Amino acid sequence: METKDIILELRTKKGLSQEELAEKVFVTRQAVSRWENGETVPNTETLKLLSKLFDVSINTLLGSPRQLICQCCGMPLEDSSISREKDGIFNEEYCKWCYADGEYMYHNMDELIEVCVKNMAN
Ligand SMILES: [Zn+2]
Repeated sequence: METKDIILELRTKKGLSQEELAEKVFVTRQAVSRWENGETVPNTETLKLLSKLFDVSINTLLGSPRQLICQCCGMPLEDSSISREKDGIFNEEYCKWCYADGEYMYHNMDELIEVCVKNMAN
């Protein structure tokens, strides 16, 4: 799927009009309309707001151009396994088992290996 279809789908699912979505992410209704027509793509700051609003990763908003991989354990990341910062924003670098609430879940190499082994066991 392309960004335009993804935004349209997420907006409709949330029951928002173009106008309401525009207000929530501080753009004009015309900007939303252009995204959904495929004329433009939201900028980085707006993508962050959309990611938070719709609770999906920026990678998903962009039509999943990359296979996200945890920089710590190498696990392929889905939206459901991506780690989050304290404020709920996705951190697309890590899985939620390696990094959560703004903190790494390990403090040295031994702990890291332990965490990764546990993940693999699951
Ligand atoms: Zn990981």
